[in-house]
Amino acid sequence: MQPIHIIGGGLAGSEAAWQVASRGVPVVLHEMRPLRSTAVHKTGGLAELVCSNSFRSDDREHNAVGLLHEEMRRLDSLVMRAADANQVPAGGALAVDRDGFSQAVGAALEAQPLVRVSREEIAELPPAEWDSVIVATGPLTSPGLAAAIGAVAGMMAAPIVYLDPNMMGGILLYSFAGAVLGGIDNPWGAVLGGFVVGVLENLVGAYLVGAEVKLSVALVIIVGVLVVRPSGLFGRRIVARV
Ligand SMILES: Cc1cc2nc3c(=O)[nH]c(=O)nc-3n(C[C@H](O)[C@H](O)[C@H](O)COP(=O)(O)OP(=O)(O)OC[C@H]3O[C@@H](n4cnc5c(N)ncnc54)[C@H](O)[C@@H]3O)c2cc1C
Repeated sequence: MQPIHIIGGGLAGSEAAWQVASRGVPVVLHEMRPLRSTAVHKTGGLAELVCSNSFRSDDREHNAVGLLHEEMRRLDSLVMRAADANQVPAGGALAVDRDGFSQAVGAALEAQPLVRVSREEIAELPPAEWDSVIVATGPLTSPGLAAAIGAVAGMMAAPIVYLDPNMMGGILLYSFAGAVLGGIDNPWGAVLGGFVVGVLENLVGAYLVGAEVKLSVALVIIVGVLVVRPSGLFGRRIVARV
C-alpha cells in the first residue's frame, strides 16, 4: 500500500500520522527539525509546543474547547492522550509539561510500526510520485515550501480575480486623473483631486454611464483639465521663456 506523506511533525501532523496509522495505512512523517529549525521552536521533538503550554479550558460541559478535547479523546487522539499524561495544575485549563508532552507524542509515533519519521525539509512542492499528501507545516512553514504554496495559490486565484499584467491599469488611470485635476506639482492637491475623481467616478458610473464604462470618467477628466486649466486646480502655472 502506498504511504500517506505528512509534511510537518507539529501538533497537527503528529495527530494526523497517528490517526492514519491507526487505520492501517502506512505513513511517512517528514519533519525538518532539528536539521532546520524555525524562529520559535527550540528542540527537534515532534509536537513541540511554542509559547503557551495551555490547551485552554477542559470543561466539556460549558466550553467549546473543552468539548473538542472530549471529542478528540473519544477518537483516540494521541495529542490528548499525551496531554492528559503530562498535565500540570492549571485550574480548569488543560496545561502540560511541554517536554514530557513532546516526548510522549514522539515515543508513541516512533513505536508505531506503520509510521516512519523522516528528518528532512520538504522545500518545494511534493514530488508527483507521492500519492497522498497532508501538508501540516503550520504558521512557520519553511520559506521554500511557503513560496511554492503561494505560487500555486496565485495560479489558482488568477482566473477568479482576473490576475493579469494590466490589473493595476485602472487604478493608475484614476490616480493620474486625480493628480492632473489637483495639480501635478501639488501633492495635497493631488490627494484632493483623487477624492473628487473617486466621487465623480462613482456618481457618473451609477447614474449616467453605467459601471462598465465608468473608467472613461477618468479619461474625460484628464482631457477636460488639460484643455481648460492644464495646471490643475491647485498647481502652479509655470511660464518659461524658451
Ligand atoms: C510565535 C508563535 C506563538 C504561538 N503561540 C501560541 C499559543 O500560545 N497558543 C496556541 O494555542 N497557539 C500558539 N501558536 C500557534 C501554534 O503554532 C499552533 O497552535 C500550533 O502549533 C499549530 O500546530 P501545527 O501542527 O499547525 O504547526 P506546528 O506545531 O508549528 O508544526 C509544524 C511543523 O512543521 C515543520 N515544518 C515546517 N515547514 C516544513 C517543511 N518545509 N518541511 C518539513 N517540516 C516542516 C515545523 O518544524 C513544525 O514542526 C503560536 C504560533 C507562533 C508562530
